[in-house]
Amino acid sequence: MVGLDSFTLFAANAVVLALMAVAFHFARRSNPDQAYWHSWCAGNLLLAAALVFFMIPARLPETLSMIVPNGLLLAGFGLRWRAAREFSGRASPARSTWAPTVLFLVLCAIPPVAGSYATIYSIVNILLATLAGAAAWEFWRDRADQLPSRYGLVAAYALLSLSFAARVVQGLFVGDGFDAYLPYDAMLTLHLMIALLHTPASGAFALSIAYERTTAKLRHAAAHDSLTELLNRGAFEREVAARMRRDGNAGQAVLLLDIDRFKRVNDRYGHAAGDAVLRACARVVEEVAGRDALVARIGGEEFAVHLHGATAHEAEQAAERVRIAVQAEPVTTGEHTLTITVSVGWFWHYDAGLGLETMLRRADVALYRAKQTGRNRVERLAA
Ligand code: GH3
Ligand code: MG
Ligand code: MG
Repeated sequence: MVGLDSFTLFAANAVVLALMAVAFHFARRSNPDQAYWHSWCAGNLLLAAALVFFMIPARLPETLSMIVPNGLLLAGFGLRWRAAREFSGRASPARSTWAPTVLFLVLCAIPPVAGSYATIYSIVNILLATLAGAAAWEFWRDRADQLPSRYGLVAAYALLSLSFAARVVQGLFVGDGFDAYLPYDAMLTLHLMIALLHTPASGAFALSIAYERTTAKLRHAAAHDSLTELLNRGAFEREVAARMRRDGNAGQAVLLLDIDRFKRVNDRYGHAAGDAVLRACARVVEEVAGRDALVARIGGEEFAVHLHGATAHEAEQAAERVRIAVQAEPVTTGEHTLTITVSVGWFWHYDAGLGLETMLRRADVALYRAKQTGRNRVERLAA
């Protein structure tokens, strides 16, 4: 049976780091747009190299056997921090990535530092605790996106940061005896055990958070219209059906809006101006339709609003509010400022059994009437 001595733990850590680097490499190959895998993979390889150096100190001059592996550790964690920054889409300048490593090397060139292993270990562990803590912070600060693996990454990096910090505190207590004591101390085994847990855990969470984010993006794209960011027709149908199932019978209304003479906007000012009008119109409708309103773009220049738990009077007020707000909000595109109007047809009913299709068809009859009777009008089809 293999004992869990430091050498075995160093070796196991190096192997796990290298294996995770391979996993990151393949993640990069199948997702070339995810640049952070490169930093993640390179960081792991440097860390694995650092551990290999720790295992063969006798072959190097004594000072180099301290500086090389510790420098590699700092460079590896610098890259891990960089990967976390890249993942969150934040700037990750090279100077910040390598600053801890350079600082360490510069300090090691100062004679009193170079002569004291205790000082070198303290500096290294302070910098490592900071880098691991900074990585944990990067994952923590974006938690609003509610990706579950975020918390795993935060925990993994925070634990490792604490483990590095504990070694600084330990160094302060041991003081002068630190040099001789350190390589054989019991806390080194604990620290290496934590590192051995950290690597596969943080690696697995890194792979799964990337997957979770891709899935969330795809889900959003499948449910929204890319021009206006409103719900698309399919998602609108699903959401309304879910509301009806959940809330049962209640007063509900469908408002159908169609921009007046929209073709003219495209013809006179160009398609881009038309798109700007659609975006502006979507924003206004969403703003004034009411807090519980579901708003969707269900066709070229047609929008639908679903109101749940509303009286017919409230539905009529919402329809008028939207019509007036669109007219009151001029759209500026290039050097032109355009006033837009919408016609609104609406239908109100007190029965969850009546499907959305039927409600939309009836609202459409009312909309047709609004167009026929002069546009920029609100019309109702009575139940
Ligand atoms: P009405 O008052 O009767 O509704 O007249 P209209 O011109 O608005 O009606 P019509 O349905 O003839 O025109 C709709 C136009 O909307 C036609 C199409 O080119 C344009 N359109 C549809 N989708 C988009 C889009 O995504 N962007 C732009 N710019 N135009 C679009
Ligand atoms: Mg139309
Ligand atoms: Mg129109």
